[in-house]
Amino acid sequence: MSLKVGIVGYGGMGSFHHSQISSINEVMEVIACYDINPQKGKEGEGKGLKRYEQLDALLADKNIDIILIATPNNFHKDISIQALKAGKHVICEKPVTMNAKELEEIINVAEKQNSIFSVHQNRRWDRDFRIVKKAIENAIIGTPFYIESRVQGSRGVPGDWRCVKEAGGGMLYDWGIHLLDQMMWLVDSPVVEVYAHLLSVKFPEVDDNFKLMLRFKNGISALIEVDTYTFINLPRWHVSGDAGTLVINDWDCNGKIVKANTIEFKWEEGIVYTSAGPTKTMAPRPIETITEEELPQVQTDCRDYYRNFAGAVLGEQELKVTPLQALRVMQVIDAAFYSAENGVSVKGEF
Ligand code: NAD
Repeated sequence: MSLKVGIVGYGGMGSFHHSQISSINEVMEVIACYDINPQKGKEGEGKGLKRYEQLDALLADKNIDIILIATPNNFHKDISIQALKAGKHVICEKPVTMNAKELEEIINVAEKQNSIFSVHQNRRWDRDFRIVKKAIENAIIGTPFYIESRVQGSRGVPGDWRCVKEAGGGMLYDWGIHLLDQMMWLVDSPVVEVYAHLLSVKFPEVDDNFKLMLRFKNGISALIEVDTYTFINLPRWHVSGDAGTLVINDWDCNGKIVKANTIEFKWEEGIVYTSAGPTKTMAPRPIETITEEELPQVQTDCRDYYRNFAGAVLGEQELKVTPLQALRVMQVIDAAFYSAENGVSVKGEF
């Protein structure tokens, strides 16, 4: 028996969820929708869904087990709480809320209701991310000490609610939350320092580019970078380990690993003349002392997110994207906004 889903907010992401879930109807089936804009609701109706004109009516539908929230960000908290109080399990789009305090309110209600609550952090199933995760887990480049994760475009911020601060616009909430969730799942250690620069290059109301530095308790440093006004991209991932370096250049996962091999590296006696001028430090490493490897292979399917959520509702699986993980991420988001506003690095344990 598949679990029945009602979607709140049938825009870009609401309709995407509908089509994704339609391909695994043995697990979940979307049966209804509600959108504040009747035209959008009618699009769902046109694809076979029962359209509700009021949120309360959707939440009162006894056939629905799961409410999936895909509205702009500022509505997530209230709709999540309403849905949980109506006895539903809830999947909420990212960013789950505007801050950690709002998420704590949701978690309290979910616990009281004994309902499953999760955030759609689908990018944990991205191929590029899984390659990095596998490489680190298998110590292919030794112990990592610095990780760069970035996404870059040149088209600016989509001209919708994402440009409006009150609606939860800006790139820290939009792409930042994905990259931060990945990073905090990748590095098994608390974040102890957060330092952020938020830039508004073309969109004065929100951050349209940002740089976020993190330090983890285990000593790993990380840079998370999101740009919407860059015309020449840097690599998607650049990971430095004590045995080598991993690079993934793009979404197609072109990249490589370069490692020190067992042939001993010896410093030259005299000065070395290179294209960088006379330098020993930056001279190229002798080619016989390094080995190049292909990136590890991974298999991944982002629909495993829904399969896992359904398994958790049925009591058959541990939930993968948990409310407490989401809370840590929101605490770092809060710290990043504070850091950027006050020009300080924020120390703590998140
Ligand atoms: P969108 O503007 O395309 O769709 C939002 C829909 O919500 C619209 O149809 C709008 O009419 C409706 N809506 C607005 N307020 C509402 C309310 N109070 N009640 C019911 N419906 C309401 O936006 P989108 O791109 O689909 O983004 C929606 C959410 O999905 C956001 O939280 C966004 O961050 C998230 N998102 C996630 C991913 C991902 O990969 N996980 C990708 C894109 C967007």
